[in-house]
Amino acid sequence: MAHAQPELTKNQALVFGSLSDAGGPLTAYAILDLLRENGFRAPLQVYRALDKLVEYGMVHRLESLNAFVACSHKGCAEHGTAAFAICENCGDVSEFTPDEVIKLLKEWTQAEGFTLARTTIELRGTCRDCISQPN
Ligand SMILES: [Zn+2]
Ligand SMILES: [Zn+2]
Repeated sequence: MAHAQPELTKNQALVFGSLSDAGGPLTAYAILDLLRENGFRAPLQVYRALDKLVEYGMVHRLESLNAFVACSHKGCAEHGTAAFAICENCGDVSEFTPDEVIKLLKEWTQAEGFTLARTTIELRGTCRDCISQPN
């Protein structure tokens, strides 16, 4: 399914660019620090841009880290369910789509009559690289 990329404002494009370049999660304050020389002055400017980017499905909010990460499904402008494996050792975050889990959640919400807006699944643990590296 091809979705048209939404037209981004300058601020939204800058915030998305900094998240893409980071290649990992950033807090709103870290984004603000990166964009100060681009004229960003207040956290609210960053939050406003992030709200829209999350709405467009280009950025996900990681609740457990209180941080944001660029969606790694390039060109996928809307998907309501994202899953992340977060390494608590190196901070690596990988996004994946757990189709079977999504199916089960959908069945449950339909049976319960619960209207689902979005789902973010966060797995916390240790990544393969960290396990195999003796410290
Ligand atoms: Zn995504
Ligand atoms: Zn790791």
